[in-house]
Amino acid sequence: MLNNLKPQAPDKILALMGEYRADPRDKKVDLGVGVYKDADGKTPIMTAVHKAEKQVWDSETTKSYAGLAGQPEFHAAMAEMVLGKGYPADRLACLSTVGGTGACRMGFELARMAQPETTVWVSDPTWPNHLSILNFMGQAFKSYRYFDAASRSVDFDAMMADLKAVKKGDIVLLHGCCHNPTGANLTIEQWGAVADLLEQTGAIPMIDLAYQGFGDGLEEDAAGTRLIASRLPEVLIAASCSKNFGIYRERTGCLMVLGDAATRAVTQDVLSYLNRQTYSFPPYHGQALVARVLTDPALRAEWEAELEEVRTGMLDLRKQLADELRRLTNSDRFDFVAEHRGMFSRLGATPEQVAKMKAENGIYMVGDSRINIAGLNTKSVPLLARALIDAGV
Ligand code: PMP
Repeated sequence: MLNNLKPQAPDKILALMGEYRADPRDKKVDLGVGVYKDADGKTPIMTAVHKAEKQVWDSETTKSYAGLAGQPEFHAAMAEMVLGKGYPADRLACLSTVGGTGACRMGFELARMAQPETTVWVSDPTWPNHLSILNFMGQAFKSYRYFDAASRSVDFDAMMADLKAVKKGDIVLLHGCCHNPTGANLTIEQWGAVADLLEQTGAIPMIDLAYQGFGDGLEEDAAGTRLIASRLPEVLIAASCSKNFGIYRERTGCLMVLGDAATRAVTQDVLSYLNRQTYSFPPYHGQALVARVLTDPALRAEWEAELEEVRTGMLDLRKQLADELRRLTNSDRFDFVAEHRGMFSRLGATPEQVAKMKAENGIYMVGDSRINIAGLNTKSVPLLARALIDAGV
């Protein structure tokens, strides 16, 4: 049996991580994998999360199984954070999942169960794992244009032109904020136009929200999602707690499904079923931490302040990089770096230029020239700027 197996293409970003670790040079800069790092290159445990962890440790009396769909207090806290106070609980079904990846997967599975012939529409480009999962599932998908390589901003006309072809019941996958890999995001007016189009076509939005709080703020980053949720009858939202709570390895995510009040019970039932068939109970620990942080006023205030520091720190680095490139090129052609939001920017370097920066400067970025802004610090910003110019970007 095992001799029938074929090696699978390695995940490019994870392979890059390995290459970086193996590089013996002292002066190397890791702008690859999407993990937040502070100025010392560390990924700290957020203090509010650490305190919540201690509280859980002190109060927990059993490790018996918990909820199959997840913890109701986690669902309620997540729904409020994502959809805002007064969210329509009577229309909402929730599933705790193994990270945001699990939420995406379960969202695709739910859609496929409901309508096996569905087509999923993804932005070009998108997070590569979206494509990999859809391919693995044998799920039909198409892409819509999203990014204008020249201006490094959203090509909204092209996006809307492509989305005109969606059919009733198709799933349109949108990044809620902080688009990965480009860093280019829709304005609220553009979200409104997308909602119009979805209404007219009867296509169903699925929003991947992996970076709430990393872009313009917790509330601001949910604005597009909330607008869609307020207008469309059926909406899927795959939220990740990995980045904004810094609990990557706890594998904590939540799939929220908004529909008709009449279909809620069956939807909730099918969500539980999907967990049961895949891994049975979802991880508990991360849910407990997030629920505690979000519902305890002191912990919440501490977490929000720390998240805000993370967010503004990345904005400062963006500005510093854009300023440095403005100085070096005597032009505004890299100003998009300061306009982008979230952890990533696609810089627009060719694969050859990316390889050159890795070989000559020890600067590691994804092959499509996506950089993790949080991988920079005030010392490495000038190195990156210089390397970009020397590589001819
Ligand atoms: N969606 C997007 C767009 C992402 O960038 C990520 C993380 N890289 C995820 C989902 C899932 O993250 P996780 O499974 O680690 O929560």
